[in-house]
Amino acid sequence: MPSTPTTRRSFLARGAAFASVPALAGLVPGVLSDPAFADDPLPDYAPVPSSALGPALNAQGYFVGRVERNLYWVTDGAYQAAFLTTRDGVVLFDAPPTIGHNLQRAIDQIASDNGVSNKVTHIVYSHHHADHVGASSLFGRDAVRVGHVEAKRLLTRDNDPTRPVPDLTFKTHRKLVVGGEKIDLAWHGTNHTPDNIYIHFPDHDTLMLVDVNLPGWVPFNSFNLDEDVPASLAAPDRALAYPWKHYIGGHMGRLGTRGDMVVFQEYLSDLVDGVTQALAAVDPTPFFAKYGNNTWAAVKTYQDAQIKYATAPVIAKYTGVLAAADVYTASTAFVILESIRLDQGAGSQVHP
Ligand SMILES: [Zn+2]
Repeated sequence: MPSTPTTRRSFLARGAAFASVPALAGLVPGVLSDPAFADDPLPDYAPVPSSALGPALNAQGYFVGRVERNLYWVTDGAYQAAFLTTRDGVVLFDAPPTIGHNLQRAIDQIASDNGVSNKVTHIVYSHHHADHVGASSLFGRDAVRVGHVEAKRLLTRDNDPTRPVPDLTFKTHRKLVVGGEKIDLAWHGTNHTPDNIYIHFPDHDTLMLVDVNLPGWVPFNSFNLDEDVPASLAAPDRALAYPWKHYIGGHMGRLGTRGDMVVFQEYLSDLVDGVTQALAAVDPTPFFAKYGNNTWAAVKTYQDAQIKYATAPVIAKYTGVLAAADVYTASTAFVILESIRLDQGAGSQVHP
């Protein structure tokens, strides 16, 4: 693909927004001016299976489609939002800055096709992360923001004008009815973040749960940076307990199915098994013998070996099934290994 300024800019925008580590955005100009930081040659990875990809984007860089009846989804290929058209206006679910002004364009397109209002009256926040709600302020102060109480606390802390704090909050459950349309919001504890909620559309056969399963793809770096690993491992079961046919995961180019959730659950279970076996199977002796008093060097190389042991069969099994299995499985396995050690106490030995 030719590196035109536009494609280069959009790759940068996507990369910076994706990082969800704000500091990385600041690094981008430095990376450009000093390409010596790039590995040479850059590594090759397995091709992305066509099953991971979604519909083509339009000339403005988005796709909008129907999920079910008057529930729609919008994607830019990396991020997703959703919206419900009602007789009293539009309820928007998340506002990723990478989609930005294309959110209103997508809403305008659907509203004019169907002769309904294009006015966003409510914005539901899946969680407080800027990469999912950083375009919220585009919709003005009149729209009612809805989110978990913890989202309000975290957004108050972050004090970011692009993400107005929720006006309506809840602790465990909240039924929202807008223009006769029902939305069930639920909080089942910390998973990806302490404020990440389950958004169920009982009359649209749909569940929206963001940054848990990214349909068709393995998780982002280090298990999606999930803050509670055991709860995130349990989240697919919790999601499958709801009745739904369509899944909005907040990421990548397509919607998910219950089958995607089952594959994701199997992938996680295979990683847990692999890591558990690695904790018992990999002998630490050679690493500590070689590095002497450099304890971190010994621990790092020992854990690298455990991760390699745990992930080799998983990467082989899921290459061609989940995109980027060879890119991010190792970093996710490390996070799971640490959770099994630290949360479950596996591999701990009491000095005699
Ligand atoms: Zn997030």
